[in-house]
Amino acid sequence: MNTNRINNGLLRHLAKSAPEVFAHVADELEPVPLDRWARLCGAHERHRWVYFPDSGVVSLVGATAEGESVQIAFVGNEGVAGIADALGIQSMPFGLIVQLPGLAYRLPSTVAKQHVFSCTALHDLLMAHAQSMIIQLAQSAICNRFHTAVQRLSRWLFLTSGRAKSDRFELTHDFVAEMVGGPRTAVSQAAATLRRLGIIDYERGVMIIRNRTQLHRMACECADAVSSVVRSDGAGATSPARRSPRRARATKSR
Ligand SMILES: [Zn+2]
Repeated sequence: MNTNRINNGLLRHLAKSAPEVFAHVADELEPVPLDRWARLCGAHERHRWVYFPDSGVVSLVGATAEGESVQIAFVGNEGVAGIADALGIQSMPFGLIVQLPGLAYRLPSTVAKQHVFSCTALHDLLMAHAQSMIIQLAQSAICNRFHTAVQRLSRWLFLTSGRAKSDRFELTHDFVAEMVGGPRTAVSQAAATLRRLGIIDYERGVMIIRNRTQLHRMACECADAVSSVVRSDGAGATSPARRSPRRARATKSR
C-alpha cells in the first residue's frame, strides 16, 4: 500500500516508525466507506474491526437504558476507533457511530492483536490514543455537568467543523441533540441563539458556520482541552491546554 495515499496520522506514524510491521498490517487493511450515521459497533459488543478513519469522523456514544444518548468522544483521521478487542478488552459500554461520512481502513482485531504486544511502536501509538480518549471522556463528564447548552453546542460545532475541515456539513437537529446531550428543546434553543447572533445558520439539514472565531468564543474551555489532545499527526495525546480565566467561568447546564 502506498503510504502517500493514506491520510490517517496513526498509520502514517506506524509506517515511519515500524515499516516492517506496517507492511504486514497494510496487507490486511481494507478500505471501507464511512456512511453517514452508520453504526460500526454497538455498546457492549466486541470490536471485531479496528477502524483507522482516513476522512470523516467516528463518535463514541454513550446511552441510557431509556435510549437517550450523548457523544462522549470522537475520532478523526488522527486516530483509531474500536481498539478494545485488540488490547484484550472484551467490550466497552459505548457504541461507535459515523458522525461525518468519509473513508476508513479497517483491520481485523485479531491481526491488530497479533502485533500490538510484540511491536512497541504500535503498542505505544494505541496506548497514546487510548490516553487521548480517556482525557476526552473526562472532559465530557465535566462538560455535561457544568456547561450550558449554548457552550456545549458551540464546542461541539467548533470541534466538528475542525475535524470536517469545512464550515458546512449535513446534520439534523435530532442528531445534534443526541451528540450534544440534554433535552432536544434546550439544544434547539441554543442553536436558535447562535443563529440569531449570526454565528451559525442551518437550512434543510445543512449546518453552516458563519463565524468560526465567534463560535470558538461561545464554546466552553472543553473545546481547547479536546483540541489539544486530538492531534492530526497520529503522535497521540498531549497535555490538556491550560485553561484561560475567561473560559473558566463554568455555569450549570439546564
Ligand atoms: Zn464544556
